[in-house]
Amino acid sequence: LTVGVVTESRPGESRVALVPKLVSRLATRGLSTIVERGAGAGAQLADEAYVEAGAELGDPWQADVVVKVAAPTAEEIGKLKRGTVLIGFLDPRGDPDGIAALEQAGIRAFAMEAVPRISRAQAMDALSSQSSVAGYRAVLLAAEKLNRFFPMLTTAAGTVPPAKVLVLGAGVAGLQALATAKRLGAQTTGYDVRPEVGEQVRSLGAQFLDLGIEAVGEGGYARELTEEERAEQQRRLTEAITKFDVVVTTALVPGRKAPTLVTEDAVRGMPAGGVVLDLAGESGGNCELSRPGEDIVAHGVTVSAPLNLPAGMPAHASELYARNVTELLELLVTTEGELRLDFSDEVVAGACVAGREGSES
Ligand code: NAD
Repeated sequence: LTVGVVTESRPGESRVALVPKLVSRLATRGLSTIVERGAGAGAQLADEAYVEAGAELGDPWQADVVVKVAAPTAEEIGKLKRGTVLIGFLDPRGDPDGIAALEQAGIRAFAMEAVPRISRAQAMDALSSQSSVAGYRAVLLAAEKLNRFFPMLTTAAGTVPPAKVLVLGAGVAGLQALATAKRLGAQTTGYDVRPEVGEQVRSLGAQFLDLGIEAVGEGGYARELTEEERAEQQRRLTEAITKFDVVVTTALVPGRKAPTLVTEDAVRGMPAGGVVLDLAGESGGNCELSRPGEDIVAHGVTVSAPLNLPAGMPAHASELYARNVTELLELLVTTEGELRLDFSDEVVAGACVAGREGSES
């Protein structure tokens, strides 16, 4: 069985779906790897490093299995042969047309977003690995944009109080943001509508902001708030946010537009020179003023909604993603390196988003 590693074509995408150190691991499972020239260049991984690990350089699109980061373009789908197994972030909720095109082309597609988030599949959880990178980078970017220090400093020229950082949404990205802000010396506070995360927030040395609104949904995720709850949440948050120099927002509800947590009034109430760093830009943003992919200054506050933050730290983002992809791929092949798609396995069945018909085995 051959595994193809392609060069990502999405603008700004610097990650690669397989790193050299996993090429030899796949070889022990009887899988040979074909790497497109330059596929790892964005993550500073040279073609020679892949070759030294045992890969061949060549045309990856004709391989039996193609691994990717971003969903393929229509042109890329055209390069795949029928029956190819494709693994990547295929955006099954946001891009049903893309999934239909894969189905039509006879591709057996596995979406990393659709891997069930159960304990057994944790090593394949690419949403978590990439959210950790995003949460970390969000805080570094916010620190860079803020007009003050993060840590408390006692110097001969005077004492500087620590920056106050509020993180809205304490899932994987939010918890990493809290941990990172703490390491930089900020005074940290976390907020979420899932009360069970209070303990996790506190374990990171942060305070938990309790606004008395609970919204636990299915599968451990938050549910969408009712109109009334949303108004109440915005009112209470607007009041709370005036005390913070930095607000990092990470709140998402699966399959929905991101909730608006930071209103223009809240931004107006923040100290001048403050920063709102909105991680939910790709889903519409958590701040009323966010413009996805841009930084704006409003009422003296920088509102920043960067896109694809993991691509800004491509070495570790690729390494973790490649590990997630390899774990999933190993579930799809026998120890002899033959493809065996066992749809009675909930992870295989859950992750498969196209081409299941005709591949039952
Ligand atoms: P996410 O990215 O979907 O959302 C981020 C956070 O935003 C969540 O904590 C959510 O509660 C919060 N949120 C949504 N709406 C909000 C609102 N109106 N106000 C405030 N906060 C709001 O979540 P995620 O980081 O992908 O993970 C969330 C859940 O998945 C957690 O329960 C986590 O433990 C679970 N999880 C399980 C596994 C596993 O078992 N393999 C792995 C990762 C995550």
